[in-house]
Amino acid sequence: MTKLSDPGPSIPGKRHEGEPDDEDENFYICKVCGQPVDMRDLRQVIWHEQPRHKPLKPELVKKP
Ligand SMILES: [Zn+2]
Repeated sequence: MTKLSDPGPSIPGKRHEGEPDDEDENFYICKVCGQPVDMRDLRQVIWHEQPRHKPLKPELVKKP
């Protein structure tokens, strides 16, 4: 007897959702100042959205 709704064996795969394993995936390089911007930190994102700005000080970028 064959079940038409049988999807067959499960296909193992890598998760593409949730927190990325690689921390670097949360960063992009700002075109204006060339500094890595943490996309999770809205303060950094807004700062780097400005047409003219300087790189943030490292102590302001680091997470506690
Ligand atoms: Zn910038």
